[in-house]
Amino acid sequence: MKKETILIESRDAAFRDLVLETPVGKKLPTCMQCGICAGSCPVSHEMDYNPRQLVRMVQLGLKKEVLNSNTIWICTTCFSCSVRCPRGIRPTELMETLKPIAIAEGVKNKNERFDGVFSDVVRKNGRASEFLLISRYSLKEPEMIKQAPFGLSLFSKGKLPLAIDKMEDTSELDTIFKLGAQESREECKVENKEENKEIGTKKEKEEPETDK
Ligand code: SF4
Ligand code: SF4
Repeated sequence: MKKETILIESRDAAFRDLVLETPVGKKLPTCMQCGICAGSCPVSHEMDYNPRQLVRMVQLGLKKEVLNSNTIWICTTCFSCSVRCPRGIRPTELMETLKPIAIAEGVKNKNERFDGVFSDVVRKNGRASEFLLISRYSLKEPEMIKQAPFGLSLFSKGKLPLAIDKMEDTSELDTIFKLGAQESREECKVENKEENKEIGTKKEKEEPETDK
C-alpha cells in the first residue's frame, strides 16, 4: 500500500467514536505511543502501519487508511503486543474489532481474500490444509502463479501432502462461524446508525433557518 500524506479532511469522527465505544476501544485514548507493541510485533515489517501507528490512526479517525491497510489482516494474533502494553491496551483485539468493520465497508485486498479462503477451508474441514489453501487462494490471486515453481518443488519433495485431514463433525465450527457473521452484521448496523446520525447532524447544520 502506497503511503500518502494524511489530510485533516480524512478524519472521520463517527468511525473513531464507533471504535472507541467498543470494549477494546475504551483504553485507546490512553496510548502514550511508547512503541512497545510495534517493537514486540513479529510481523510489523510486513505491515503498512505497525500496531502503534494503527492505534494513533484510530485515535485520529483515519477510517480509510485504517480499513484499507494490510495491518489488520497481517496480524497473526500472537498477543505479544497485548501482553506487553504498559497501558493495558490490546492491539490484538483491536485488529479483530476492525476486521468486521472493514468487511462491512466492502474493503477488498489480497490479505482480505486470503483471510476469506483460510476461514472457508477451516470452516469446511476443521483443519487448515496447505494444499486446499494454496490451490483455492491461487484461483483468487493471479500473482500466485509466480509461486508455482516453489509449490512444485515442495510437492516433489513430499512437503505438500494432497490428503485432506478432515474433522469428523464440523457442525460446531459452523455455529461459531455463523455467530461471527451475526456479530459482523450487528457491528455494521451500529455503524450505519452512527453514520446516519452524523449525516443527520450535518444536514441540520446545512439547512438554512426559515422565518416562522
Ligand atoms: S504498547 Fe500500548 S501504549 Fe505503547 S504504543 Fe502500543 S498501544 Fe500505545
Ligand atoms: S498480535 Fe498482531 S499486532 Fe500484536 S504483536 Fe502479534 S502479530 Fe503483531
